[in-house]
Amino acid sequence: MAKITFIGLGNMGGPMASNLVKAGHEVTVFDLSKDAVAALVSEGAKTADTAHEAASGAECVITMLPAGQHVEAVYLGDDGLLAKLPAGTLVIDSSTIAPETARGVAEVARAKDIPFLDAPVSGGVGGAKAGTLTFICGGSGEAFNQAKPILDAMGKNIFHAGDHGSGQVAKICNNMLLAILMSGTSEALALGVKNGLDPAVLSEIMKQSSGGNWALNVYNPWPGVMEGVPASRNYEGGFLVNLMTKDLGLAFDNAVKNQASIPMGSLARNLFQLHAGQGNGNLDFSSIQRLYKPE
Ligand code: NAD
Repeated sequence: MAKITFIGLGNMGGPMASNLVKAGHEVTVFDLSKDAVAALVSEGAKTADTAHEAASGAECVITMLPAGQHVEAVYLGDDGLLAKLPAGTLVIDSSTIAPETARGVAEVARAKDIPFLDAPVSGGVGGAKAGTLTFICGGSGEAFNQAKPILDAMGKNIFHAGDHGSGQVAKICNNMLLAILMSGTSEALALGVKNGLDPAVLSEIMKQSSGGNWALNVYNPWPGVMEGVPASRNYEGGFLVNLMTKDLGLAFDNAVKNQASIPMGSLARNLFQLHAGQGNGNLDFSSIQRLYKPE
């Protein structure tokens, strides 16, 4: 069992750290939110007053932060963790951030002989709680092999996508596709209902037909069609519109840099941006259904 420091105990990081504690690791946690820290301490984790103190003596540091600027603030500069961590400490960042930001942190880590992995996740809050996340890792094969037994306590599928930044590239491709599928599914359901169809019956037909996809199978956006999904609790909890908008922005910026054409991704980004601008940023992303006025 390893001595692990976990920083960023939000919707995802909280249950991920909790699964590390349950697996028997010696876990020290840190977050700016005292309540988030207290919840983990009540489950058996230790804590400290600062991120540096929390990371002191750790064999592995894991971060799960909102965006690139938070990751840079925690790791880089004279006050950053990489300035003080000893060589050989395994560092894993599971936040979803731009590939070039991950590469920048990896470069600073490499100069100090600190193995670094970008390891963003897929599977949402449900997957984080159940310990069934998919980890998509970028970094050396050696760092990946070192991290795998630790990631196994939080996930079911652990992929090595390639070198530094590759985990983030694969993650933003996946989320761009997810946004396209969710908005397309919402549009198709709204059209059927406009024609008098029952959304549950239409969903079942499309699931068994060529339009079947993840949004229909496990995350139906129409309220009341599926139990236990955000659409059936006023789109509360889940994966926020603000975070999906951030990820679509990462995909867009990446496409511009690489002169790639993403017409569907750009449209999805505009739809989610419009939806966020109408005050829906803190709802689950399946609330994009409301843009088609089903209620
Ligand atoms: P969140 O906002 O719920 O949690 C982030 C946590 O980081 C908060 O508790 C915050 O207090 C803490 N934090 C911020 N700055 C900090 C600092 N300097 N030091 C210590 N703690 C700090 O976010 P989340 O939903 O847990 O998402 C985290 C990351 O995972 C994001 O990059 C997101 O895109 C990605 N992600 C989220 C989901 C999801 O379903 N929520 C799914 C996959 C990936």
